[in-house]
Amino acid sequence: MKSPFISLEKARQIAAQYPTPFHIYNEAGIRKTARDLYQAFSWNPGFKEYYAVKAAPNPVLLNILREEGCGIDCSSYTELMLAEALGFSGNEVMFSSNATPREDYMLAHKIHAIINLDDYSDVDSVSKLFPLPETMSLRFNPGGSFSIGNAIMDHPQEAKYGMTKEQIIKAIKKMLSLGVKHFGIHSFLASNTLTNDYYPTLAELLFHLAVDIHKQTGAHIAFLNLSGGIGIPYRPEDVPNDIFAIGKKVEAAYQKVICPSGMELSIYTELGRYMTGPHGALIATAIHEKKIYKDYIGLDACAANLMRPAIYKAYHHITVLGKENAPSDHLYDVTGGLCENNDKFAIDRMLPEIQIGDLIYIHDTGAHGFSMGYNYNGKLRSAEILLQEDGSFKLIRRAETPKDYFATLDFLHLFD
Ligand SMILES: *Cc1c(COP(=O)(O)O)cnc(C)c1O
Repeated sequence: MKSPFISLEKARQIAAQYPTPFHIYNEAGIRKTARDLYQAFSWNPGFKEYYAVKAAPNPVLLNILREEGCGIDCSSYTELMLAEALGFSGNEVMFSSNATPREDYMLAHKIHAIINLDDYSDVDSVSKLFPLPETMSLRFNPGGSFSIGNAIMDHPQEAKYGMTKEQIIKAIKKMLSLGVKHFGIHSFLASNTLTNDYYPTLAELLFHLAVDIHKQTGAHIAFLNLSGGIGIPYRPEDVPNDIFAIGKKVEAAYQKVICPSGMELSIYTELGRYMTGPHGALIATAIHEKKIYKDYIGLDACAANLMRPAIYKAYHHITVLGKENAPSDHLYDVTGGLCENNDKFAIDRMLPEIQIGDLIYIHDTGAHGFSMGYNYNGKLRSAEILLQEDGSFKLIRRAETPKDYFATLDFLHLFD
């Protein structure tokens, strides 16, 4: 059973001030998730979470996470600008990019971000731009398939990211000669995992790698970055991850592999989905119903506000607010209004009977939701609202207006 974090009454109150559709975020939920994560890894004194900015690039949310001890993980120029504007710097910023423009490296360097190199050739390109910083990170790709037990999780050999082990060792030797003193190893091998074994399996692999690299190069490995990939229960039947069990299992692997080596290192994470995914929702209004070969409910939101169902066929749970306890005895496709037949939030979904004007709560849009939005069909991006801990709400991003949409054109000139 998945429950909304706001009631119909609250949603109506908000919608009276800020018309639907809008994304809403639950501050209390975000803070609790961050505190639990830090608690689960408190055995590792240097532990730090670098929230993946791309998941929800809103300054208010980033500041909340910062108050809970989190840094941020950026991958583009504008994400770095956001970091700079909010005063994140030094070891508060991880810069994990690929196919990286020169300007991006320059800005990362300006704010003293930890630069995570994606490729062997990047050592050369970056060292031509500025003297390499004392602390740098390298992204590892083990190739082959990545399995946990008998389950194949993903195929790193098909992923564009990271370096081979041989390249990492060659890169570290070169970087040592260029003055780098402390190294981190980063790896991201599977996305949205629902198993308490993903991080522990990845950590053990990286622990062995770190010990081996240290033996071969003498380099000081200061941290391992387990990156993102911990998933969330999008479906009611999904079993959520247990972050405390995950922390314990990573600790066991640390004691098994790292402690005997005499090394000490910090664990970093770059979680996006896990941190904010469940603490966001898209609120829309049912504005149309049509019955042809199927029964369709049309919303005032569309794939421009939430792309995951359209591009990944991702499941997002839907609650009709105020009808939480009504029987789900109607079969619907719930759609947006794009001229694109994949603009469907749900296909063949059993829901309570929906009336025009009902407020529809689409769950788990707090990560890779608003931020993936686009302007296809001239649809405008929605507002973002924060539900604060005291139950009050605050606008944290206004909705786009037609003027925003036309801002890159000399629009009036077209009518001369
Ligand atoms: C997208 C991304 C993340 C976050 O992934 P989640 O699935 O949201 O946890 C972390 N690190 C990097 C480098 C990424 O590209």
